[in-house]
Amino acid sequence: MTRRVVLIGHPVAHSLSGPMLQAAFDERGIDARHELRDVSIPGLPAAIEDVRGTDHLGAQVTIPHKERVVPLIDRLTDEAHATGAVNTITKEGKRLVGHNTDVPGFRVALDSLVGRQKMPKMAVVLGAGGGARAVVYGLITEGFQRVVVFNRHLHRGEGLVRHFGRSAAHMELKAMPWHESIIEAELARTRVLVNATSIGLHGDVAPIPAGIIPPGLLVMDLIYNPSQTRFLREAAAAGAEATANGLVMLLHQGTAQFELWTGQPAPIEIMRERLEAALAAREASADDAASEAAAGVAAAAEAAPAPTPAPGD
Ligand code: NDP
Repeated sequence: MTRRVVLIGHPVAHSLSGPMLQAAFDERGIDARHELRDVSIPGLPAAIEDVRGTDHLGAQVTIPHKERVVPLIDRLTDEAHATGAVNTITKEGKRLVGHNTDVPGFRVALDSLVGRQKMPKMAVVLGAGGGARAVVYGLITEGFQRVVVFNRHLHRGEGLVRHFGRSAAHMELKAMPWHESIIEAELARTRVLVNATSIGLHGDVAPIPAGIIPPGLLVMDLIYNPSQTRFLREAAAAGAEATANGLVMLLHQGTAQFELWTGQPAPIEIMRERLEAALAAREASADDAASEAAAGVAAAAEAAPAPTPAPGD
């Protein structure tokens, strides 16, 4: 029987997990099919219940459900428990086990952003959702000494800080209100800046104004599609020492998922190639759509009758 691996989220259309994981299943001869399942918040319990069926090998959980799914799972691994967020579900018979492979994915991405220099100690994280929890946990366990979280809804940032209470007891972990002047002051003393909001996933918008980003930072955007968000472009233009999108994190959280579901080593090079090809194809079709839309606007303007002069013109 072909078994399913479903990606449960809302939205899901931007995701590149499908091509990456399907290529890995095919390469290793595993009879599994990746499927996207767009699930709204009220539909989440039923979608998770479906995963218990024998036709499911497991599931991925993405935006905005990573925290909400926790009470629907039977057992959590240490990292899922520590973060309070689940991005991967495996099965023990009908029982569901929640994992968080975003954490190892983020660690690899951070190491690659930092390169050969010493691991920095201070970071600013924008966002306090499921992805931000993996980022903050990764920073805590990498030995960061000061991490400041800014979130549109302050209470969610404060909830994140409370959640990490004991594991962050040795360092300074704070949630601060989303005010430009406060973010600017914090950026002036930090070294690493991570966008873990979904701002930039749809539309060419950035979470913070370009003018408050100082030069010399190590900057990561968890978003990978588009590959160059406005945030990353503006950080680079401001003189960032290095920038990275979320592709490395996506790849490495995906290889960890593959190994959990199949017990086999992930074909990482095949997955990387497929991911990069899928991203290039999506970006090319987005460019085509944008050119077609622009051509349509120009043609409509040419075909439109000249405006009637207003009285008095
Ligand atoms: P959640 O829905 O859990 O969190 C979304 C976050 O974005 C919250 O902090 C939310 O703030 C903030 N946000 C959304 N819209 C706005 C807005 N208009 N203005 C200000 N803040 C906003 O999503 P996730 O944490 O799961 O994902 C966040 C992003 O990270 C997504 O783009 C996702 O694709 C990406 N991601 C990438 C990964 C990778 O492997 N590369 C892994 C994990 C995530 P508030 O709480 O105030 O609503």
